[in-house]
Amino acid sequence: MELLRVTNLVKKYGSTNAVNGLSFHIDEGRCVSLLGANGAGKTTTLKMLSGLLEPTSGSISFQGTKQKDIRQYIGYLPQYPSFFNWMSGKEFLVFTAELAKLNRKEAEERSEELLERVGLLDAKKRKIGGYSGGMKQRLGLAQALIHRPKLLILDEPVSALDPLGRREVLDMMREIKQETTVIFSTHVLHDAQEISDDIIIINEGDIAISGELENVIEQYRQPIIQIEFD
Ligand code: ATP
Repeated sequence: MELLRVTNLVKKYGSTNAVNGLSFHIDEGRCVSLLGANGAGKTTTLKMLSGLLEPTSGSISFQGTKQKDIRQYIGYLPQYPSFFNWMSGKEFLVFTAELAKLNRKEAEERSEELLERVGLLDAKKRKIGGYSGGMKQRLGLAQALIHRPKLLILDEPVSALDPLGRREVLDMMREIKQETTVIFSTHVLHDAQEISDDIIIINEGDIAISGELENVIEQYRQPIIQIEFD
């Protein structure tokens, strides 16, 4: 079933065309990677999908209809998430859950459930400031999942991590994608290959190639090898 459809999406910043008429759709249960070089328009696209940025033109429909506010359905982890380093992981999640209008008891329960899911139960009382990069990103994943979104949007979730953190977060994403539809951006083909079902390659705000990962890789083997962005 189709979850989200984007039609002729355009975003201009003054005279810069950051996104230049993108059209694609995301089916429920898929893990989609958005692959492109720096400045290709990935962050701008994901911000529009998450309802944080108004498109200059074009439309986004969710479950077949144009929603007034799609943010309730979306979990979003920005490229540079900010945490309150003086809080413990658990305090931060409870705080996030209460912002998402869960009552105290639900917030506690949901936080514990997610801490376990992202492998941070043992570290839940430690201050976030002492977490590794991978732990912070896993906490960010838990935060994005707090209100049980139908679509999880992750902007470059592993780009800033060392190899261990990258491994931790990719493994976590592999588990999460069993239950939630995911779109994530990356500039590294290998990350896209590792966990996505579908791939959208964007270049200068426009789609270069898209489709099922295996088909795209097979069909465009030579050109893709040339589009190695790291
Ligand atoms: P990166 O991997 O570097 O984050 P990206 O693929 O996410 O790149 P965007 O951040 O969406 O790309 O940027 C797309 C284009 O829009 C770039 O040319 C960028 O300089 C421009 N841009 C992005 N945000 C703004 C802004 N707030 N004002 C002006 N131009 C912007």
